[in-house]
Amino acid sequence: MDELMLDGNAIAGLLQEVFAVEMTTAIGTCGSCGAAGAVGAVHVYRGAGIVLRCPHCDNVLAKIVKNDSRVWIDFRGTRTLEVAV
Ligand SMILES: [Zn+2]
Repeated sequence: MDELMLDGNAIAGLLQEVFAVEMTTAIGTCGSCGAAGAVGAVHVYRGAGIVLRCPHCDNVLAKIVKNDSRVWIDFRGTRTLEVAV
């Protein structure tokens, strides 16, 4: 594990704020390798924004950039996201 990398649980608060549902237990499917797993288990890198990577193939699943009033979310690397309702 990279010392700069965290897991999806590290951004649970941000995900809750954006999606208004518990996201760490949501199941995401990677758009590259097709692996499915809990968002809490993805690899998270923080820099100018947040990058979520597949723990199986390192594909970029999502990018999230936030300022004081807006959030930009790019989920193009995620095939599906299954959320409990
Ligand atoms: Zn993958």
